[in-house]
Amino acid sequence: MDDCIFCKIVAGEIPSKIAYQDDEVFAFHDINPAAPTHIVVIPRQHIANSAALDASHALLAGRLIVAAAQIAREQNLVGSGYRIVTNTGKDGGQTVGHLHFHLLGGRAMTWPPG
Ligand code: AMP
Ligand code: ZN
Repeated sequence: MDDCIFCKIVAGEIPSKIAYQDDEVFAFHDINPAAPTHIVVIPRQHIANSAALDASHALLAGRLIVAAAQIAREQNLVGSGYRIVTNTGKDGGQTVGHLHFHLLGGRAMTWPPG
């Protein structure tokens, strides 16, 4: 998608600190971290958010979560724990319209989220 900053990050048009990549998944450190470790995990293909997912995305959705879990292991977050979260739409607090999972760790999270 032409106007999407995460598509531009995948294409290398906007620089990022890459944490992980494979043929379908791309992950990079958040520019405005909300925790000591804050990595954004996205599909290379443009999908607006979780509301746009259907059965055709089942394998990809699984790969995104599995990639986040692998990154969490690489970032040594398993012992202390971490959070994977996706914001969807206005009330969900989504600010970038390309599906992404936040991997947050390195501090205790609060619940419920704000
Ligand atoms: P959300 O608010 O759930 O849509 O999350 C979007 C996330 O993308 C925020 O945590 C931003 O800090 C992050 N973000 C926005 N632009 C960039 C960028 N150029 N590089 C890295 N992270 C970014
Ligand atoms: Zn996009």
